Amino acid sequence: MSTKNKFCQSCGMPMSKDPQSGGTNADGNRNETYCSYCYQNGAFTFNGTVTEFQEFCRTKMVENGQSKFMAWLFTRGMKRLVRWKNN
Ligand SMILES: [Zn+2]
Repeated sequence: MSTKNKFCQSCGMPMSKDPQSGGTNADGNRNETYCSYCYQNGAFTFNGTVTEFQEFCRTKMVENGQSKFMAWLFTRGMKRLVRWKNN
């Protein structure tokens, strides 16, 4: 899994699925490390622990019609992403 910038390094979503193809830095430039859902204007949209964020994403996915299993599968690798590595 060394596919640089292919997945958002906060939530793990494929960047190709991001309608804005990346978040935004404080200076308005595109940020290609994090998706537009996670990162806006130089700040993370969700602040908390990785466990809280996993819970948040799973809830959102189930709300959007994903099965609980898919939501679990999607979020289980999250701890290895750049944003959470040092926590
Ligand atoms: Zn993201």
